Parts: sequence; structure tokens; C-alpha cells
Amino acid sequence: MNEPALGKGGYSGAMALGKDYATQECSIARALEVVGERWTLLVVRDALYGVRRYNDFLVHLGIPRAVLAARLQTLTEAGVLEKRPCADAPRRHEYVVTERGRALWPALRALGAWGLDTFGGTAPLRLFRHVACGTELGAAGECPACGGLVPVEDVEMLPGPGLDPEPSDPVSRALLAPRRLLQPLTTDPV
Ligand SMILES: [Zn+2]
Repeated sequence: MNEPALGKGGYSGAMALGKDYATQECSIARALEVVGERWTLLVVRDALYGVRRYNDFLVHLGIPRAVLAARLQTLTEAGVLEKRPCADAPRRHEYVVTERGRALWPALRALGAWGLDTFGGTAPLRLFRHVACGTELGAAGECPACGGLVPVEDVEMLPGPGLDPEPSDPVSRALLAPRRLLQPLTTDPV
């Protein structure tokens, strides 16, 4: 007779939480509530590259305006991006990646490395190095030479052998030059 009592005690909490939202106990599922929609992680990627303006996200990603607007709103509401007035044009806005957004960098780095390893076939589009020592980052964003995770602001991004050297859009052109992550990207006026 002990068995049902133990079972009940052991599972009651899980059942209470799982009743309406079966996935809510999984932290990956919670994260995907914010970043799991199509395009969202690519918006975060671009923000880490230094893209801040709506039009720059638009031309670089090539996505419908309504989709971009929805993704920016989701990310802003989740505290991944902060919408603030442009310094040089206060009536316009820019989207700046927050501390919470920066914390997604190792996950994005690992996802990119997994994609390259798994699907291969193409040379890397971009290379990432630790600014302090020039060593290429490992798959999880760590520096093999210094040890430990490299903070995103200490990462230099360089064009890789697979990158189109003559891209058509101004954001891709600006991203051809070696640059630190998070450094605000500037594009020529269109
Ligand atoms: Zn290093």
C-alpha cells in the first residue's frame, strides 16, 4: 500500500505544473518561447554583429517588414533588445542588444559550429577570434589559448573563406571589414 502513496507524493508537483503547459518545466522550452520562432535568432545574431537600425536588419535579413517588426517587438518585450532613440536622429529608433541578449552569444556560437560540423560542405562565412590573443574561438565560444569563455565584447569577427567578397547590400559590405562584436554598425546612407 505504500507504493501509491509514494507515487502520488512524487508526481503531484509535476502534474500540477504539467496540467496546462506540459513543456514549461524545461528551461530550453522557456527559452524557445522567446527565440524559437523563425528568424528570431538571426535577428539576435545581427544585433550581436552590431546591427541596430530597422532598415539595416531589413536589408541584411531580407525578410518581410511585418515579420521583422514582430520579431523586434518580441525581443524587446523579452528584454533581449532595448529600443531607444538614435543618438543622431532622436525621432528614429535603434535596437541595442542588452545584457540578456549578449548572454545568447555562446548559444549562437555553438549553434553555428554545430551547423557547420553537421551540414558542412561550405567554408565558414565568418571567423571569430579572441581580441586579446588572436586565437580562433572554440565551438562554445571559448578561447583554447586563454581558457574560459570569451566575453562577446572581446570577440573579433573576420570574413571567412566562404563569404561573398562583393555583397549587394550595405550591411553585408560593412561586415566585410574585421570588427568587434557589438560595435555599432554604420552603413552608407541609401
Ligand atoms: Zn585568448
